[in-house]
Amino acid sequence: TTFEALGLDSSILRAIAALGFEAPTPIQRDAIPHVLEGRDLMGLAQTGTGKTAAFGLPLVQHLMAEKHLPEARTVRALVLAPTRELVNQIADNLRAYTRRTDLRVATVVGGASINNQIRMLSRGTDLLVATPGRLLDLVERRAVRLDTARFLVLDEADQMLDLGFIHALRKIATLVGTPRQTLLFSATMPRQMEELSRAYLSDPVRVQV
Ligand code: AMP
Repeated sequence: TTFEALGLDSSILRAIAALGFEAPTPIQRDAIPHVLEGRDLMGLAQTGTGKTAAFGLPLVQHLMAEKHLPEARTVRALVLAPTRELVNQIADNLRAYTRRTDLRVATVVGGASINNQIRMLSRGTDLLVATPGRLLDLVERRAVRLDTARFLVLDEADQMLDLGFIHALRKIATLVGTPRQTLLFSATMPRQMEELSRAYLSDPVRVQV
């Protein structure tokens, strides 16, 4: 199949062509139409399968369709990931998908200057990629609000559980706006993940590669 057949529009297709992607990977083929439809999704997929584009491309399309600017210190879409490396990698991908748009992508990770992050968040963010602990710290300092976020992605959720982020994830879930679309990706499905997915996802589509 082709990216076009999945329902992606021309500006996203141009970004995909610029990246040199010729055809969707299996997770992209199976997930993108559901994400475009607004469904919640549980994706069982390892790194390297193309899962970043599986959630990132349709997310960018949703944000472009709505076309409103984020207000100061608010977020339109939140992506949570376990490590600084993964956060930066996801943000690099999202920046490639949004290159010719005015969507703003920001990152928040522990171990980096919090004052720079406060400054970055002050203008408002379309796509925020964050590790859970630092994000909560910034929420507590009132540098950012999550209640306007309409999209929530948990990437490598099993790793976030292993790193002890369960309380931070539960807290963040209470702060993010509703109704929202939630996408959860994990390489494994431990029992705690089943509980997490029941708490986070509403009537999810399940995709496994
Ligand atoms: P990910 O699993 O999201 O970390 O992606 C793994 C790698 O595959 C990244 O380097 C992507 O740029 C690349 N990639 C993702 N989707 C495609 C595609 N449809 N065709 C070719 N490469 C891709």
